[in-house]
Amino acid sequence: MTERNRCGSCTMCCKTIGVTDIDKPPNVWCGHCEIGQGCKIYETRPTSCRTYECLWFSNDWMADELRPDRCKIVFEEIEEDRIVLAMVDPKRPDAWKTRNVQAFIQFMTHEFRAAVVICVGITSLDDAVMFVPPGRTRKGIIKSVFRDAGLKIERYAAQQGITFEEAVRQATGVEGIKKVVDFSV
Ligand code: SF4
Ligand code: SF4
Repeated sequence: MTERNRCGSCTMCCKTIGVTDIDKPPNVWCGHCEIGQGCKIYETRPTSCRTYECLWFSNDWMADELRPDRCKIVFEEIEEDRIVLAMVDPKRPDAWKTRNVQAFIQFMTHEFRAAVVICVGITSLDDAVMFVPPGRTRKGIIKSVFRDAGLKIERYAAQQGITFEEAVRQATGVEGIKKVVDFSV
């Protein structure tokens, strides 16, 4: 979480987001989180927590009901690729099907031509529900999501004799990400 004022009593990113600095995997509550109140180590929290801004935090035009603790989804934008990741609270896997969220997805895909990727837990992007605007492909979107690690994943796939999709599947888990990103190239 970043600044308390815009976040209010929301602490959802302290659950959905992985924080490598403190070995916190995604989709479990951080041990430092006072749920619904804030960070117990606020003054010394990791830099990645200080700088993290979800889409709701940085866009005051988004409706109140889309605040992550209310809609149970943390939206995150990969701006240069017009991709919105919707990280759904695994305890509320259907949260993305609500009327408010569906309206937001429609708005993002139609007005901004952004792809919206629904991530329920960490499984595989291959299986993820994606709202893909015309002219874009699932594979292109997956590659963009993994842009930073994409080259390593491609090399890893070649080395292992597996497809890019399978390498992404392996990389999607926390241990998999470490394995692929640490892979010596
Ligand atoms: S999910 Fe967004 S609004 Fe909620 S605490 Fe994190 S940055 Fe703030
Ligand atoms: S260290 Fe604090 S801000 Fe970072 S995830 Fe944990 S509770 Fe949230």
